[in-house]
Amino acid sequence: MGKTYLLTPGPCPVPPRVGLAVARPVIHHRSDEYHALHAAVTAGLRSVLCTAGDVLLFACTGTGVMEAAVSNLLSPGDEAVVVRGGKFGDRWAEICAAFGARVVPVDVEWGEAVSPGDVAAALRRHPAAKAVFSTLCETSTGVKTDIEALGRVAGGGGAALVVDATSGLCCSEFRMDDWGVDVAVAGCQKGLMCPTGLGIAVVGSRRARALIEKSSAARYYYDWRPAIEAAGRSETAWSSPAALVAGLAEALDGILAEGLEACIARHRRLGEACRAGVAGMGLRLLAPDAPADGLTAVRTPDRIDADLLRERMRERYGVLVAGGQGRLRGRIIRIAHMGYAGPFDVVTALAALGMALADLGRPVEIGRGLAAAAEVLREP
Ligand SMILES: *Cc1c(COP(=O)(O)O)cnc(C)c1O
Repeated sequence: MGKTYLLTPGPCPVPPRVGLAVARPVIHHRSDEYHALHAAVTAGLRSVLCTAGDVLLFACTGTGVMEAAVSNLLSPGDEAVVVRGGKFGDRWAEICAAFGARVVPVDVEWGEAVSPGDVAAALRRHPAAKAVFSTLCETSTGVKTDIEALGRVAGGGGAALVVDATSGLCCSEFRMDDWGVDVAVAGCQKGLMCPTGLGIAVVGSRRARALIEKSSAARYYYDWRPAIEAAGRSETAWSSPAALVAGLAEALDGILAEGLEACIARHRRLGEACRAGVAGMGLRLLAPDAPADGLTAVRTPDRIDADLLRERMRERYGVLVAGGQGRLRGRIIRIAHMGYAGPFDVVTALAALGMALADLGRPVEIGRGLAAAAEVLREP
């Protein structure tokens, strides 16, 4: 029949109303109709990021706006503290290095969260550092970072706090202004429930604006100076990916109708249920101590190759989950419960995981896992 279940932490399924909005007739990006759409998306993004900052939209994935954050905030030779606890932390460091910044790494065991004290120590050793780069949800390990605590640490000094919120936004709490986050970036294809291709950057502080003015790094498409100016007119500096902006307007409408707090609570519950189900089947989590709300990373049992397991889940049962990246390749699977996700996405993932393990000669107690998940998911 070919029915598939996309349970990866990006891209994620989108609500039907979002798909329909993306498919609407093309509108011009310098028209009143577009201006209204852009303004609505700006307002919606301010609500979900809890900020009054400048919202900038680009036609790119999350990596594009990560690169833009580096080229707009740092000049070659500047020092930057980078939290490296997974693939996306590594990406921050690689981009900083590509633009000639001097990276001060704060390395974290993959599967654990950074200790704010370690970031504070790095800033004490490097008082001239211009920025701290971190990740709200480290998607490669399923770890959530305590951004509020990093905000307290960075806030005292002169460094701007920059957060990649891509897979954490709308899944976990993120209060940009209250927490002292200077710049946040995100792609739209995760908790924001859109097809891939819209990059979002938010400039939230005077400190960030001053860095943007001072940066001597080469940039053109991603120059935030014309972008901020255009955003003041509810436009993008260059052509807008207007179809995706229309999709995002629908998605934000849905998220805010559910209520941001309810949306975050839904993710918290899905995460708890998934972890309970995994434990109920006797399997181990990669990140038991600081789990993300939008995905769960599961260690595969000894002698079970995670990629073979994934292959089995996909081919036999139509359930697509993600594998491990970098040094975790073959050792974990990552189950998303992110964005347009409900209780039966978790149930589906757990059942398929248990069935595929049995197929590979490593049976687990599927019923105990599902019962444990159901206990969390049941409406009281
Ligand atoms: C998905 C994701 C990105 C964006 O990755 P792209 O490959 O550019 O779409 C960035 N950061 C995090 C934490 C992500 O999960």
